[in-house]
Amino acid sequence: MSLKVWIDGQLFDKENARISVYDHGLLYGDGVFEGIRVYAGHIFEADAHLRRLFESAKAIRLTIPLPADRILAAVEQTVKANSFTDCYIRLIVTRGVGYLGLNPNKCSNPSVIVITDTIEMYPPEMYRNGMSVITASVVRNHSNSLSPRIKSLNYLNNILAKIEAIDAGVPEAIMLNINGNVAECTGDNIFIVKDGVVRTPGTAEGLLEGVTRGVMLRLCHQLGIPSNETTLQRHDLYRADECFLTGTGAEVVPVTRIDGRPVGNAEPGPITRRLIEAFHKLVRA
Ligand code: PMP
Repeated sequence: MSLKVWIDGQLFDKENARISVYDHGLLYGDGVFEGIRVYAGHIFEADAHLRRLFESAKAIRLTIPLPADRILAAVEQTVKANSFTDCYIRLIVTRGVGYLGLNPNKCSNPSVIVITDTIEMYPPEMYRNGMSVITASVVRNHSNSLSPRIKSLNYLNNILAKIEAIDAGVPEAIMLNINGNVAECTGDNIFIVKDGVVRTPGTAEGLLEGVTRGVMLRLCHQLGIPSNETTLQRHDLYRADECFLTGTGAEVVPVTRIDGRPVGNAEPGPITRRLIEAFHKLVRA
């Protein structure tokens, strides 16, 4: 059976799920999206994802044509149509069909698309043994040009850094902001552990305020692990005891090498392991 994709109120077979070449989502990356997970039949952190979708849309002055409860119903309908109990959801709102110019006001009907599929971001052994990453030379977008807090369809900044990672033979790259401070990875947020404290850059550094990042900070609080949002420089990465990445697709993955340097003793650290365990318990709860 073919996967079903929801487009503007209708379910289509994957092969026939198509949008116009005049959609500004394609022509200009003009639109917003969310990546969401379903665990054991439940949409994980649905409210947080919907809130961020509507805030991203507001920031680019895109009016989502349906209220949040109808969007959620569309997501639920698509998951059900594909009989998924565990899957990844890609929820997209494009500016819609326009003309070959930039003016978004010429696009009258934004399109809402829901794709559900399975996903494996990184090979399973990386979750056990840890991952090597690099710091990218490509600088994360300045917040006053295209704020990384907007989850927009324009991911070229991230893709350029991802290409650096691939060229270096690693799956992810850490992106620094224009001041040289750590921002995030190309598709994940970053945390380090130093002297028993979990630390992650604050949103002012120019990063997507990840839903998983928020969950991890909450878990730290619940487990009594000290944590804070703080400025981190490359030097802090190099002297970290532990490091891990978070994201909806990636979930929580330990980092054991940065720019060739071992993190701690180059094994997933005890706090990272504890948080990974707590995360998996939570998503199945
Ligand atoms: N940063 C970027 C650039 C991302 O694309 C993502 C999502 N893949 C994240 C961070 C993590 O966000 P979330 O935990 O909400 O998936």
